[in-house]
Amino acid sequence: MQIRQDVIEAIGNTPLIKLKRASEETGCNILGKAEFMNPGQSVKDRAALFMIRDAMERGTLKPGGLIVEGTAGNTGIGLALVANALGFRTVIVIPETQSQEKKDMLRLCGAQLVEVPAAPYSNPNNYVRLSGRLAEQLAKSEPNGAVWANQFDNVANRVAHIETTAPEIWEQTDGKVDGFVSAVGTGGTLAGTAMGLKAKNPKIQIGLADPMGASLYSYYTTGVLKAEGSSITEGIGQSRITANLEGAPIDRAYQIQDAEAVQIVFDLLEHEGLCLGGSSGINIAGAIRMAKELGPGHTIVTVLCDYGTRYQSKLFNPDFMRSKNLPVPEWLEKTSAISV
Ligand code: PMP
Repeated sequence: MQIRQDVIEAIGNTPLIKLKRASEETGCNILGKAEFMNPGQSVKDRAALFMIRDAMERGTLKPGGLIVEGTAGNTGIGLALVANALGFRTVIVIPETQSQEKKDMLRLCGAQLVEVPAAPYSNPNNYVRLSGRLAEQLAKSEPNGAVWANQFDNVANRVAHIETTAPEIWEQTDGKVDGFVSAVGTGGTLAGTAMGLKAKNPKIQIGLADPMGASLYSYYTTGVLKAEGSSITEGIGQSRITANLEGAPIDRAYQIQDAEAVQIVFDLLEHEGLCLGGSSGINIAGAIRMAKELGPGHTIVTVLCDYGTRYQSKLFNPDFMRSKNLPVPEWLEKTSAISV
C-alpha cells in the first residue's frame, strides 16, 4: 500500500522533468524540479511545513495557535494548508500588487488576509515588517498565542531544502548533477539546496538567477547591493542579504530580463505542456546561461516554482502583458479571443 497519511506527507518528493527545448538548445541535460506538484502548487510548501514544525518543537506554536506571515502569496498558501491540517489558523499580510488568484486561494484556505500597499523593505510599512509587528500584537491578545513565521530570516526555511530538496535532486540524478540554478525570494531554496548539494559534492556549481529590480546579481558580482529596472515576476527579487542567504555558496550569478523569462514560460506551455509562473522562467533562463558556460554534456537542475494558473490575470493576460511592453504569443491572443 502506498498511502500518504495526510496532506503533509504529500509535500516534497516532486518529479524531476527534462526540459526538452532548453536541453536541445544547450546540449546539456536541463532538468526542472516540479515544485508546482506540491499540494499548495509551489515550492513554498516545504518551507511552510518546516517553519511550522520548528515552531511546534520549540513550543512557541501551541495547539489552536495563530501563524502570522508576510508573503507574496505562495508561502501563505503553504502555511494555510499545513495549518488547516494541524489545527492552527493563519493571518497573512500580502502586498496589494500580488496576483488576484493567490489572494483568492488564500481566502479559500481560510487565511485571514491583510492587504497592504507595496513598499520597499526600508519602509516601516513594508509587508514583512508589518507582519512582524502584527504577530507581536496578536501574541498578546490571542488566547492560544501567535507566532511570526518570518520566512526571510527564519532558517528553518532553508533547512527544508537542505533536508529535502537537495537529497531528492541527488538521488533522482544518481549524483550526476553538475549545476543548480535558482532565483531568490527569501533565499531558502537557493541557499538550502546549494548547501545540501555542496555537502554531497563541493564541485557542483551553484548559480543565482536574478530578475531585474533585484539587488543580488550586483551583490554577487561586485559586492554592492544595487538594483536597476523592474520585473513582473512574483515571489522573487530580493534587495538584502536575508538570514537564509547568509553563507550561501554561490559560484555564479545571472541577470535575466522579463522578456527572456516569459518567452520561455510561453514556449514550455505551447510545446512541452508545462504551465508555469514567471519565476520558473527566470530560473530556466539562468539554467540555460549556466549550461552555455559549462558546455555540452552537463546536467543542470533548476526549480519549477509554481503553477501558471496562479498568474492567469497577469502573465497569461494579453492586456496586462502589453501594458508592460512584454511579448504576447499569437496563441494566447487567440485563446482569449474565443467566445461562443
Ligand atoms: N518563485 C515563487 C513564485 C515564489 O513564490 C517564491 C517564494 N517567495 C520563490 C520563487 C523563491 O523561493 P525562496 O523564497 O525559497 O527564495
